Amino acid sequence: MKLSQRMSRLGTETAFDVLVRARRLEAQGKDIVHLEIGEPDFDTPENIVDAAVHALRNGAHHYGPSPGLPELRQAIAEEISRTRKISVDPSEVVVTPGAKPIIFFTILALIDPEDEVLYPNPGFPIYESMIQYLGAKAVPVPLLEEKNWSLDVDDLAKKVSSSTKLLILNSPQNPTGGVIPLDDLHRIAELAHRYDFMILSDEIYCRILYVPEYHSISTLPGMKERTIILDGFSKTFAMTGWRLGYGIMRPDLAGQVSKLQTNATSCTSTFTQLAGVEALRGDQTRPNEMLEIFRERRDFIVNGLNEIPGFSCKMPEGAFYAFPNVKKLGVPSKKLADVLLEEAGVACLSGTAFGSWGEGYLRFSYANSQEKIAEALRRIKKTLQDYHMVSF
Ligand code: PLP
Repeated sequence: MKLSQRMSRLGTETAFDVLVRARRLEAQGKDIVHLEIGEPDFDTPENIVDAAVHALRNGAHHYGPSPGLPELRQAIAEEISRTRKISVDPSEVVVTPGAKPIIFFTILALIDPEDEVLYPNPGFPIYESMIQYLGAKAVPVPLLEEKNWSLDVDDLAKKVSSSTKLLILNSPQNPTGGVIPLDDLHRIAELAHRYDFMILSDEIYCRILYVPEYHSISTLPGMKERTIILDGFSKTFAMTGWRLGYGIMRPDLAGQVSKLQTNATSCTSTFTQLAGVEALRGDQTRPNEMLEIFRERRDFIVNGLNEIPGFSCKMPEGAFYAFPNVKKLGVPSKKLADVLLEEAGVACLSGTAFGSWGEGYLRFSYANSQEKIAEALRRIKKTLQDYHMVSF
């Protein structure tokens, strides 16, 4: 079989590979603490499950419109108008099976081969994968620990060129938990106006936020037309397996993205969308409780990691990831992650799974119980001691 050339440029998400390796070790009888995969460990709130069952029992069995059901587009438009303080019309909403297709569809709709797309590094690996797959030029923008995991806007300005068509932002950030400060967003917006590029603002973690206020670049003057907001239900409502996400974009682009959806998937599952209406409009007690549990776990894991010799970890401002610096151990991150999996039975990801700027870091997802996190911390300390990786 001869694959297309572009397949050689397609990347992947290492989290899924590590999960497979961890499961294999479990099948061999090894106990593993799972801190590798980026999904809430909670079940979906019951009112949302009930809404899906009700929808199925009442005939939601058929195709729907490609951009999404009118009632869900309306509910999303209201949610985004309220939370981002911009006025969003349902015609600006495209509902997709998970938020991930918004990355693919946006790049497909806006980018030609040879165009330049800037993206965060370390960052969600699908950005680079999609940019390269489509033959565009992927230009990494380093995120810096010393800037609390924001980017250096002066450095960004040097990377922008007349070929820059799109900048991808992600705040709160996977894998660092960083949040881009409002001042930086203002300066990035100025660049977007000056050099006339669009922004894909990945806001999937916007409600898993430990600082008082969320800032979306779309709210800054003149930026709504330049911004595609990516958001969804996976993280906020613990609905990863349901596959329900959306993009907010100018109506002319929404029409094109809907056309891509018609070609790729026809539409998003109908009963899932009806459950999405309940998620947005129904009782918010459970999602709010989940956030508070994440906040406690964040404090617990970050304090615990900082007590391990050779580790130092900034306090994340959002998402459910801790991204400690392990440079003092003098071991490549990938090797360290392998040792922790195979010897300590702790599954985590090497920072390099998120790009070359992730060397020297590990990513721990704290979407697991405090008990399991405590066990992981204990095992990591012991293994590092056993392997003389640190002197105590
Ligand atoms: N964007 C980021 C930064 C993510 O971390 C993820 C999931 O891990 C997604 C997008 C995709 O979300 P979904 O599962 O809704 O497709």
